[in-house]
Amino acid sequence: MIISGKDIAAQLRSDMQQQVDAMREMYGRAPSLVVIQVGDDPASTIYVRNKMRAAEFCHIQSRQILLPSSITESDLCKQIEELNRDNNVDGILVQLPLPEHIDEEHILRAIRAEKDVDGFHPDNAAYLWLHQPLVKKHVASIYNPVPDYGCTIPCTPKGILSLLASTGVELDGKRAVMVGRSDIVGKPMAKLLMDRQCTVTLAHSHTSDLPAVCREADILIVAVGKPKLISADCIKPGAIVIDVGINRLPDGTLSGDVDFEACKDIAAHITPVPGGVGPMTVTMLMQNTIDCFRRRMAK
Ligand code: NDP
Repeated sequence: MIISGKDIAAQLRSDMQQQVDAMREMYGRAPSLVVIQVGDDPASTIYVRNKMRAAEFCHIQSRQILLPSSITESDLCKQIEELNRDNNVDGILVQLPLPEHIDEEHILRAIRAEKDVDGFHPDNAAYLWLHQPLVKKHVASIYNPVPDYGCTIPCTPKGILSLLASTGVELDGKRAVMVGRSDIVGKPMAKLLMDRQCTVTLAHSHTSDLPAVCREADILIVAVGKPKLISADCIKPGAIVIDVGINRLPDGTLSGDVDFEACKDIAAHITPVPGGVGPMTVTMLMQNTIDCFRRRMAK
């Protein structure tokens, strides 16, 4: 069965529209998001445009700040500081990658953790790793895929939990294999699955016999960036397969990290590329903006 991230994202965005309208009624303004783009990298321009469109659809106030690629790190920090102090800004996102002369880690730390809608600030990452919410009491659904950690959870793993919830499969006790150990996908995903009582293996470029490791997975999530790395011999029959990879092929089409055609009849549930994880990532950015607003208003 194909998991349509596109359809689930559309459902969630309609629900967010209503949440945002109710918030505007209650607090006199809607949640607001500022996206900073440095330079004019074409891929970043597309990502930023998608984020702006999603915000508009959800009735979230959004603003884009376009800065020249020649900007200094200290001027970029000053811009972020101004937004940190602005009470009418709830979420700040700096589109990555940044030009080489700017230290990304430094910039991500400059955003106040409570306005960090990507969940990349070290305080948010630490909170996720050190905190153990009451998962037993949490009933996961596409609308509410993670228990309240009291911090911002990175968008892609949060969106994947929503996709997993859409299958109705109980995660408790399952074998999960996460291929890829990046800070934005693999590592936070592994922690979230561990908290959902999965037995988790985190595979990477040094993992020996990757197909054998993958074949153990009831839940296989792949975030590598190599087209069709995962072939039919990597899939346990009946597994859930989530493909995070986005790879542009020489003919201009997009491919995931999973050979979709070869794997779709072996897996019980599988995400396509495009139309799987991608729309959920942007949708969870909207949810994170709403959640940052809600937490700030509750203070
Ligand atoms: P990174 O490049 O940061 O990490 C890639 C990971 O894959 C690393 O951990 C690396 O291992 C591992 N890896 C590389 N080669 C192999 C291999 N042959 N076998 C097993 N593991 C391997 O990538 P990201 O996590 O940022 O992104 C991964 C993919 O997901 C990209 O295509 C990206 O575009 C896409 N993406 C999509 C999103 C969406 O919303 N759909 C969101 C974020 C990313 P090691 O650590 O050993 O180097």
